[in-house]
Amino acid sequence: MALPVCWSCNYIFKWREVLFIIDGRKKCPNCGERQYITTQSNRESGLYGVVLPVIPFVLNVFGLSWILTGSIAFLAMMIYLSVIPFKLQFTNYREPLF
Ligand SMILES: [Zn+2]
Repeated sequence: MALPVCWSCNYIFKWREVLFIIDGRKKCPNCGERQYITTQSNRESGLYGVVLPVIPFVLNVFGLSWILTGSIAFLAMMIYLSVIPFKLQFTNYREPLF
C-alpha cells in the first residue's frame, strides 16, 4: 500500500489531502495539475463504502448490545477512512466509469 502520487511531478500526497475527494478530482498542491481517480481505485473504494453501512445490521443479527455494535461500526469507519487514501490512484484524464 502506498499513498497516491501526482502523475505530473511525482509529488506524494499526504494522507489528509486525499481523505476527502469531491467528484473524483484533486489538484496537486505542488504543481497544480488536476488529478483524476482511476476507475479501478474508485470502484474499490466505492465497494468499501457499500460494505460499511451494512456492518451494524450484520452485528445486530448476532444480538450484540447497541453500545458494542456502535463501537465496532465506529471502529470500522475509522479503519475505512485510514485505509482509503492508500487505495487511491491518480491519472491525468478522467477514465470512463464502466
Ligand atoms: Zn504535481
